[in-house]
Parts: sequence; structure tokens; C-alpha cells
Amino acid sequence: MINLNTPQLGLGPVAESSTDAMKISVLASGSSGNVTYIETPTHKVLVDAGLSGKKINELMQSIGRDLQDVDSLFVTHEHTDHAKSVGVLARKYGINVYANEKTWSAIAGKVGKIPLEQKFDLEAGEIQELDGLDVQSFPVSHDAIDPQFYEMHYGGKSFVILTDTGYVSERMAGVIKNADGYLFECNHDMDMLRMGAYPWPLKQRILGDTGHLSNEDGANALMEVLGNRTKRIYLGHLSRENNMKALAHLTVASMMTEKDYGVEHDFHLLDTDPDAATDLTIL
Ligand SMILES: [Zn+2]
Ligand SMILES: [Zn+2]
Repeated sequence: MINLNTPQLGLGPVAESSTDAMKISVLASGSSGNVTYIETPTHKVLVDAGLSGKKINELMQSIGRDLQDVDSLFVTHEHTDHAKSVGVLARKYGINVYANEKTWSAIAGKVGKIPLEQKFDLEAGEIQELDGLDVQSFPVSHDAIDPQFYEMHYGGKSFVILTDTGYVSERMAGVIKNADGYLFECNHDMDMLRMGAYPWPLKQRILGDTGHLSNEDGANALMEVLGNRTKRIYLGHLSRENNMKALAHLTVASMMTEKDYGVEHDFHLLDTDPDAATDLTIL
């Protein structure tokens, strides 16, 4: 029987109130380190820990939050810019860590000992439920052992984190369609990468199917997936060497405007920073 006095998550205006909504801050994003913070009234969660524990603590302070209060960390893959302080966060802050089995095996030697009761297995395609916050994992194409990214669902809203992929498949696009918010990869400007100082094998790696999305790739994929619900798009994982914030923003904005997407009317395009957190925002 449905109790009409109980607010039904996802159906009513519940998520509009600031006390029962998902809030997000991209604490840091870029080739040098990635951490995203998501909170609900009952959980404080990080996706990736690609900076030192000390730096993540500072970034948390900058948005008025305490790393001590974080309960869960979802790891996308073993690259250092995502997994650097997984061990520290588990041991020093008692945070539960979720990753798939292969990623666990890949980080085992790098992150030190993590208490067994804080280690959780979450395979691609599975959903972890945390009191109404559903964390849905999905596989990507990237040169790590078993990379997966996450879509967070809470109170009828959804937030997708997708960086570190060589392309966006139709299947991935189907999973992440019409989310309320995205943190989406714009790793490099094609010309800066091509003409830049990176050795050719590294350029090939980045440009390949298991590398990273360029600004143009990011814009094209975003136009495939965004929908009438989409209100916030964070451009993330910019390369320090092969991209610039203004260039990524301008490329995506102009490609979308050319195709009649309502940039800054229907949704906001937002920048991220490798060293500074975005405002903690209700999604
Ligand atoms: Zn990576
Ligand atoms: Zn990365």
C-alpha cells in the first residue's frame, strides 16, 4: 500500500529542497589528479582519490566539508591520477573503498594494506545502494585493467562522471543519456596535442581508442547524450600540456551553439580546475 504522506523519491519536488538533495563539487579534475565529491543527507562520497590525502583534505575544507565525514570512495581505475591516496583515505579516514576485482588487483601493490572490512567489490554494470543513493557503474574504453565510471542517482536526479575513455560507445551513451549533470572529459585540443612536445607513441596512446576524449570528441559525445533534464555540464580532465580551460570551453560551446543547443539557456557549461574545487552545488 502506498502511504501518501511519505514523499516518493524521484516523483515529487522532494529533491528541490536543499535538505534532501544530491550536492556535488568537482574537487579537482585534470591529468594531474581527479577527485569528485557527492553528498546526500546520509552519505558523503568521493569518486577517485588522485591527489595526496593532505591535498584532498584541503579541498574538502575549501567547500566547508571534512574528509573525516566521508564514508565511501568509488575508484574508477588504477592510474595514479585517480588512485593515488586510496590507501591513505581508507586507513587514516576509515573510508570504505569500492572498485572492481581487477582494479583491486592492479592497485594492491601501490596503495598499501586496506582493512578487509573496508574493501568492497563493485563490478561494471552493478549498482551499489547507499540509503537511496544508487551508484551505477559502467565500463569504458581506456588503457587500464578494467576501467569503469559511475552514474549517481538520488532523489530523482542523476549525475554522470565520465573521463578517461577513448570513445563513447552507443552502449555507454544509452546508460548515461539525459542525466541532470555531467562531469565529462575534454582532455586535449587535437592541434595542441599533434604539434606539442609529447613523443609520438604517447600521442598515439592519447588519440587511440583506449586513450582520452579530445575537446571535439567531448562535445560530440555530449550532444549525443544530453537531454531536457540536463542542467549542468562540467568540462573535466583537461591536460596541462595539451589544452587550456578557455579553449576547451570555447570549442565545446561553439560546436554546440552551431548545432542549436541552448548553451547557457538550457544548461550551464562549467569549468573545472586541477587545484581548486567547484562550488558545492545542489544538482
Ligand atoms: Zn586513466
Ligand atoms: Zn585520468
